[in-house]
Amino acid sequence: MKIICIGRNYAKHIEELENERPKSPVVFLKPDSAILPKKNPFFIPSFSSDVHYEVEVLVKINKVGKYIDEKYAPKYYDEIGLGIDFTARDVQQECKEKGLPWEKAKAFDGSAVIGAFFNKNDFDLQRLQFQLLKNDAIVQDGNTNSMLWKIDELIAYVSKYFTLKKGDVIFTGTPAGVGKVSENDVLTGILEGNEAFTVKVK
Ligand code: ZN
Repeated sequence: MKIICIGRNYAKHIEELENERPKSPVVFLKPDSAILPKKNPFFIPSFSSDVHYEVEVLVKINKVGKYIDEKYAPKYYDEIGLGIDFTARDVQQECKEKGLPWEKAKAFDGSAVIGAFFNKNDFDLQRLQFQLLKNDAIVQDGNTNSMLWKIDELIAYVSKYFTLKKGDVIFTGTPAGVGKVSENDVLTGILEGNEAFTVKVK
């Protein structure tokens, strides 16, 4: 399976990192080795002193598709979830300045937290409310109604470049409020009131 991630999909997050608003979705990949095994703690990697959490709504692809039309996109997923796109912000900054790819900052081991998935029919996907708690305090509070590109548009867009396969997961971008993690932090993701994951930072 592969993990397809979208960057800069919420206007307020673009502002907080002083990035340019993109004309089309920013896309990058994480390999399956980036998945943090369930119940494992997240270890801050030695090559970064500024790892950020980014909570994101996830979409799990249920069948093969390529050049998917936006209006048929809902047929390609039954479940949505919540996860974290851990980002070595200092490494990413260096990559950005040099115009280099982001993989070292975004695709390292353990950088993808994939929490529980839920039946998409139980929710209004246009208005999904989700939060990240750090040590029981809300640090990110997002709603899919402020996405620049909605889930179905993202599926149409990324499937032009990559054949989507059953089990692939799309990370749909993070809202504002990203920040640094420290040793002993506990991160909890909440999707419409349901706990989707808890991760300890070591
Ligand atoms: Zn992200």
